[in-house]
Amino acid sequence: MEAARIIIVGGGFAGATLAEHLNRRVARDVEVVVISSDNHMVFTPMLAEVAGRSLSGFDVVMPGRQMAPRATWLTATVTSVDLKTNEVEYTRPDGKRSTLSYAHLVLACGSDVNLDVVPGMAAHAYTLRTVGDGMVLGNEVIARFEQAATEPDDAERQRLLTVVVVGGGFTGVEAAGHLFDMMRSVKPYYPQLGRNRPQMVLLQRGARIVPEFQHDSLSEFALRKLRQNARATRPPYSHRGERLRASGARTRNWLGLCPRCGTCSSRSGMRGLC
Ligand SMILES: Cc1cc2nc3c(=O)[nH]c(=O)nc-3n(C[C@H](O)[C@H](O)[C@H](O)COP(=O)(O)OP(=O)(O)OC[C@H]3O[C@@H](n4cnc5c(N)ncnc54)[C@H](O)[C@@H]3O)c2cc1C
Repeated sequence: MEAARIIIVGGGFAGATLAEHLNRRVARDVEVVVISSDNHMVFTPMLAEVAGRSLSGFDVVMPGRQMAPRATWLTATVTSVDLKTNEVEYTRPDGKRSTLSYAHLVLACGSDVNLDVVPGMAAHAYTLRTVGDGMVLGNEVIARFEQAATEPDDAERQRLLTVVVVGGGFTGVEAAGHLFDMMRSVKPYYPQLGRNRPQMVLLQRGARIVPEFQHDSLSEFALRKLRQNARATRPPYSHRGERLRASGARTRNWLGLCPRCGTCSSRSGMRGLC
C-alpha cells in the first residue's frame, strides 16, 4: 500500500515548524513533504537589522532542510491545487511542471505586501519582506549618500538624504530606527555633505505609533525615543511621483519604504482554491 503523504505548501515559520512537529508525531510510513519557493526560512523580525547593516542577510536565514531534517523538502512553487484528485501542481526551478498527490494538504504560504493601500506606493516605495529587500534597501540608502556627495544643489542633496517610512507599527518603527542609525553612522564619511543632515520621517495613521502595544504609555515612550532622532508625522498623506504630501500642505521629496503596509492573505495566487 502507498504511504500516506502530507504536503505542506510553504516552508516559512509555519510550514517548517509544522513539518518538524509532524515528523516527530506521525507514524514512520507517513511521508511529510514541504514544497516551498525558497529553500530557507527567513527570520523576518531581524530584517530591519539587515536593512540597517547591523546584521548580514546570512544571519537571518535558516536552511529549511536543517529545520525539518526528516521531511522531504522540494524547492518549487505550487501553482494549483486540484481538490478533486488531491493533487498539487508545482513549477520546479528549471521551469518544468510536476504534480504530487496528497492525503492531507496544509497551506502555509504566508502573505504578501499590499502596496495598493496608498496610491503611488507600488511605483515608488521599497518593501521589507525578504532578505533581498533588506539588502536592496540598505544599498539604496548608501547609494543616495554617494549621489548626494557629488550633488551641487543643496535642496537636492537634502532630498537624497531623506527617508520616509510609511507605517508606524513594530516593523516600521524598527526599520526607521535601524536605517536612521546607519544613516547617522555613515554621515561622517561624507564630508562633502556639509550641513546637510540625514532625515527620517515616519508616517503613521491613527492616534499612536506601535498600536500593537497594549498600553498607550509604551507607544508614547517609543515616540519619545524616536523623536529624539527623527520626525514623526500624522497623516493624511498622499504622494505624486517622488513628492509626498503629509499632514496638510507640506510637500517633501522622499525615498519611501513601506515595510508591510497592509498584507493580503496569500501571496501565491494558486489556482483551484476558491
Ligand atoms: C519585516 C518583518 C518583521 C516582522 N516581525 C515580526 C515580529 O517581530 N514578530 C512576529 O510575530 N511576526 C513578525 N513578522 C510577521 C511574520 O514574519 C509572519 O507572521 C510569519 O512569517 C508568517 O509565517 P508563515 O509561515 O505564515 O509565512 P512566511 O514565513 O512568509 O513563509 C511563507 C513561505 O511560503 C513560501 N511560498 C509562498 N507561496 C508559495 C507557493 N505558491 N508555493 C510554494 N511556496 C510558497 C514562501 O517562499 C515562504 O517560504 C514580521 C514580518 C516582516 C515582513
